[in-house]
Amino acid sequence: MSILYRPEFTDSTKAREWLEAELWPAGPVCPHCGVIGQATLMRGKTTRYGLCQCNACREPFTVTVGTLYERSKVPLNQWLAATHLMMASTKGMSALEIGHQLSLSPKTAGFLCHRIRESLRDTKPTEPLGGQNKVVEADETYVGDKEGNRHKYQRTPGMQGGKGKEGVVALVEREGRVRSQHVPAVTARTLGPVLQAQIDS
Ligand SMILES: [Zn+2]
Repeated sequence: MSILYRPEFTDSTKAREWLEAELWPAGPVCPHCGVIGQATLMRGKTTRYGLCQCNACREPFTVTVGTLYERSKVPLNQWLAATHLMMASTKGMSALEIGHQLSLSPKTAGFLCHRIRESLRDTKPTEPLGGQNKVVEADETYVGDKEGNRHKYQRTPGMQGGKGKEGVVALVEREGRVRSQHVPAVTARTLGPVLQAQIDS
């Protein structure tokens, strides 16, 4: 059976759960302030599935914020499948072929392939925090500081991770960027191998 029948390639909800489990092993990571594991899953008839609100900075976010899949109307499962196909073929698969395999219009397939390719080009090693004359603070008080906040986020079935978040440290650069250890640079290059690894599993 083709790997494209895997749930994360055929179902947008399963795709989101898969991505959440991959990118948020210690709970949702707020892309705005870097706090880990302190978000409330928004529930409502008109609420997009997977929308979280950060309990620290109150900003909303989903798992695709900051990834190559951000702000797209194309279902996430099709994005994952296209990423898989592009990263799987050694010679590089054409947009036409990917569109054919995933039953996408040539226009949609072209858009997906273009963005995936762009994300490969943009991959630069992330600039490390700190450096000369900069102070990096490891601030554990952000994480799991209130018992009541710890379990607010209701995990979806596909998500991994445990209870307390004591072991997770948010790194805060004084008067500068805030970044948590778990915010990955999510591009086709970083995600591709993860999608590939499933072939043998
Ligand atoms: Zn936040």
